[in-house]
Amino acid sequence: MKEYDLIVIGGGRASNLAFAAGKAEKRVALIEKDRLGGTCPNRGCVPSKLLIGYAEAARRVREAGRHFISAKIDRIDIERMIAETNGWIEGVDGRYEGRLPEGADLYRGTGRFVADHVVEVNGERLTAPRIVIATGTRPRPAPFPEVPAWTSDDLFPLKGNIPRSITIVGGGFIGCEVANFFEAVGVQTRLVVRGDRLLPAEDGDISRIFTEQFSKNVAVDLHTKVVAVDHNDGQFTIGLEKAAGEVQTHRSEALLFAIGRLPNTDQLGLENTGIELNRRGFIKRDGFLETSVPGVYALGDVGGEFLLQHAASYEVHYLRQRLLKGDPEPIDRGAMPHAVFSDPEVAAVGLTEEQVMESGRPHVVVMEDWRSSARAMSTRLDYPRTKLLVDPESHEILGCHLIGPEASTMIHQVLAVMRLDNDVRHLKEMIHIHPALPEALLAAGVKAVKQVRRHHQKKEM
Ligand SMILES: Cc1cc2nc3c(=O)[nH]c(=O)nc-3n(C[C@H](O)[C@H](O)[C@H](O)COP(=O)(O)OP(=O)(O)OC[C@H]3O[C@@H](n4cnc5c(N)ncnc54)[C@H](O)[C@@H]3O)c2cc1C
Repeated sequence: MKEYDLIVIGGGRASNLAFAAGKAEKRVALIEKDRLGGTCPNRGCVPSKLLIGYAEAARRVREAGRHFISAKIDRIDIERMIAETNGWIEGVDGRYEGRLPEGADLYRGTGRFVADHVVEVNGERLTAPRIVIATGTRPRPAPFPEVPAWTSDDLFPLKGNIPRSITIVGGGFIGCEVANFFEAVGVQTRLVVRGDRLLPAEDGDISRIFTEQFSKNVAVDLHTKVVAVDHNDGQFTIGLEKAAGEVQTHRSEALLFAIGRLPNTDQLGLENTGIELNRRGFIKRDGFLETSVPGVYALGDVGGEFLLQHAASYEVHYLRQRLLKGDPEPIDRGAMPHAVFSDPEVAAVGLTEEQVMESGRPHVVVMEDWRSSARAMSTRLDYPRTKLLVDPESHEILGCHLIGPEASTMIHQVLAVMRLDNDVRHLKEMIHIHPALPEALLAAGVKAVKQVRRHHQKKEM
């Protein structure tokens, strides 16, 4: 049996941990069954965001009328857009392999536990006092296995002909981002969701604004279920059941299901170990990312809390400190932000209003438009909003939700405040560049501080 200091199963974000351990002259084994780099650069964040630039450029031309400019698009070369994105993906695995330090062994195969500290790969057995499981997630498969429907894994890289029409099922961030791209570049797109709004995990006010705005570009069917699918002569025939029970037929060349993610824990041989899973099949871990077997850790999506690249990367950073430098503290993530890179763009951190209400915590709510910023006004959009939830006793920001251009950039100002001493008064007191977009946050900060004052005045009366 081959002995290592560290075994890493899954070469997504955790490949960076293996590289760091190798550089620190630890004997390290990295096991990857597919492409190094994992979901984010191969079939997730990066390729999906590379497409956004194309979508934005097309929309700017189409929407020039808002600025009293008439313009029209002559031709959109989708083949070139996809080829560029596919080309980028092609280089990922090699770029990662090139970073493998000497002394680190890469195993190209599926890692499987045969005992708590013994992993088998390609028929070989490896052991280490420390093992990190970082096997991520995969798309929930399409519920109609007899037809060639896609999941997001089939888009990156997209092989074969580019469809002229697509039906996308699922109103989470992947469904919305992909639908936004296809519609913007001229593919006839329809988004089908069971619920009453898109991005249902967002704060209710934000997801309602998002649904209204998004539906101005993309055809969206709310309260709709896919009940039948047929595939003939390169066309899908899709039975869509509406809330009232009536079934309509819709046709498109492509059909994509973006209906959630499943943890890659079912083929890991965990039944041969004491590693416990939660109800949803993700690995249970404590505040040190350690599983129920001492010395075995779980990192990234396979832990099931966030399913975000920056969360997984932060956990790599934490385990590097803990395993290589002996950091004794539990992980402190602070508030975990996220964004939806669509049109409109959404970014958020902390609790939604629904979650604050449920917690019973005292709070004030500010919902502010962005008209206080001339730069925001110059976009000639009237929907952008900031929603702030603040604890009036401590001035702590409990949640911040933004919808509007550059929301994912704007939120970083709030993240800095929350990471430092989390006091909403900083948003009011810091000097903002006039009239930059973040002045919209200044206005929300001023209003929040006023609301807190009013809250206390009311209490004193
Ligand atoms: C379309 C899409 C868009 C996204 N956009 C964003 C975004 O904008 N921002 C964001 O923060 N996040 C985004 N994400 C999520 C992000 O990609 C993930 O959170 C991140 O990649 C998780 O990293 P990970 O290392 O935990 O898992 P992964 O990157 O999935 O890596 C796990 C690796 O383990 C390998 N593996 C699995 N089982 C085994 C085994 N038994 N043996 C050996 N190897 C194994 C897999 O092949 C894979 O390479 C997106 C995801 C998708 C699908």
